[in-house]
Formats: sequence, C-alpha cells, structure tokens
Amino acid sequence: MLAVIGTGGAAEVAQVSIPRRPERWLRLRVLLAALCRTDVQAATGQLAIGRRRILGHEMVGEVIESDPGCRYGPGARVAVALPLVACAACTACATGARCPETFMLGVDVDGAFAEQVVVPETAVCPVPESLPLRRAACVEPLAATSAVLRAPIQPEERGAVLGAGRIAEMTTRVLRAHGFATVDTGPDLAGGYDFVVEAAGTATDLDRALRLVRPGGVVVLKSRPAKTLTVDVTRAVRNDITLAAVSYGSFDEAVRLAGELPIDDLLGPIRPLAEFSDALAAAQRDPQGPKLFLEPVPAG
Ligand SMILES: [Zn+2]
Ligand SMILES: [Zn+2]
Repeated sequence: MLAVIGTGGAAEVAQVSIPRRPERWLRLRVLLAALCRTDVQAATGQLAIGRRRILGHEMVGEVIESDPGCRYGPGARVAVALPLVACAACTACATGARCPETFMLGVDVDGAFAEQVVVPETAVCPVPESLPLRRAACVEPLAATSAVLRAPIQPEERGAVLGAGRIAEMTTRVLRAHGFATVDTGPDLAGGYDFVVEAAGTATDLDRALRLVRPGGVVVLKSRPAKTLTVDVTRAVRNDITLAAVSYGSFDEAVRLAGELPIDDLLGPIRPLAEFSDALAAAQRDPQGPKLFLEPVPAG
C-alpha cells in the first residue's frame, strides 16, 4: 500500500506492506486524513520518531477487519479520537488503569497517512456517514481542543486564549459554543484574567499566560511543544496559579462539535496522499493557514 514514511528528518511516499493487525485492534481503510503540527514536526525531524514510521494520526476511516464480538464490525465508519496506544507492559495496564507511558499514533507507532492503518478499539469513536469527511477527520483535534472544558474554569469567568493558529482559534470557538462570554485573543490583552489558555507551545507564551492571569487564576496548558519549556515556577507559586494540563475531552463532545461547530473556514483543500511533499511544503509556508487533508487514492 501507499504510505507517507517519516525517516527522522525527512518524509517520503513509498510502497509498504499492509500492517499486521494485533488481536482486538481494528483494521481501517483510511477515507481521509488530516495534517497537523505534530506531523510537520515529525516529518522535519523536530520530533523524534522511529527510524521508518508511517506518519499521521487524524483520520476518518471504515473498519475492514475486526475480531468477533468487537464493537465495530466491517463497514462501520469511525474516526480516531484518542491517538494514544497503551504500552500493555506496565502495572497500570495490567490492572486496567490509565497507562502513563502511551505510544502516539504516527509518532511512536505507524499512523494514518496510508491506505490502511491498524488502531486499538479504544482509539476510535463512531461517526455518522452524514458527517462530511473533512469534519470527521477533525474529531481528534476537536477532542484535543475540547479538553479545555475539563480544566477548572467556568463560563461566567473572563478568559483569554494565547496562540495565533488554528488550535487557538478552534479552542476559542469551543469555549464560546459552551457559553463562555469573554474569551479574548490577540496581541494586546489587558490581563487580570480568571483563566488563560496556552495554545501556542512557546516559552514566551507560557510566560505571558502567567503574567496575564490574575492571582488565584488558572493557566490551562493545551499545546504539545516538541521541546521542554521552562516555567517561572516562582511567579506561579507566589500568585497561587493553578496549572491545569489537559489532553483530550470526551469523544461524544468531539463528534458533536465536528458536526455543529462553525469550522469550515479553518478547513483547507484535499490532496492525494502521493502529493504529501506538496502538502507539507504548504503547511510549512503557512503554519497558521487552513488545515490540509490527504486522501489515499488507490493506484490504477
Ligand atoms: Zn493532531
Ligand atoms: Zn502501560
């Protein structure tokens, strides 16, 4: 099958064998995948990946193989909502608790920029066939952005979202859709906010968040920078600031948002998977631009 392979510093489109399906995993035919910041980092060597790794984690697909008794039979349409694979080796995994050492799809294990991908049943959620494919492929980023709702923040509070990109914009819209009346954005923010969402992933913005939040307020950590950031712990402690790191919201909410949130202006064109390098170049030229999509078109 055709796949986009990250080689640790570069990426290429190549023919590879179809993936082996572990027991209780699903084999999906990829209908549409989406390119995100993590993929750009993985394709350009900013983020460490395996030696030859199939990239991609945002996708909608159709189940083509599963085990008897599985929730999703062949033909079911599903989207990846939680691209993390439990390690299956630690004590948490042995007791059914949440694994602290998960592997990420498209980074640590082979991902979705391919004709087929295998994923654990727990990574996906069902999506209606009426949901447009570009929106369905955004269930994962919407699950990631709606994670802000799990932070200790309230709609009547004054908030700000830092970051200029799609993720910041989506986060702002998710908060407004949930009744948050004051969600400020932009370079000129007054400060004194009850909460500040950090969605940019830079040390500068993290520092800015700590300065913009009122004493006793909440800084919501939402980004996943490839490098470790430094935090002004003294300022956080002196001002009793709660640092709330959140990864994913509920699957149901993500699917509902994929259907209802006004995001069409954030969604860009669909390209054939074989033209990955053009899509990557476009994403690098305009990192804040509309999301780009990749469609595996079968050869012949
Ligand atoms: Zn993503
Ligand atoms: Zn584990």
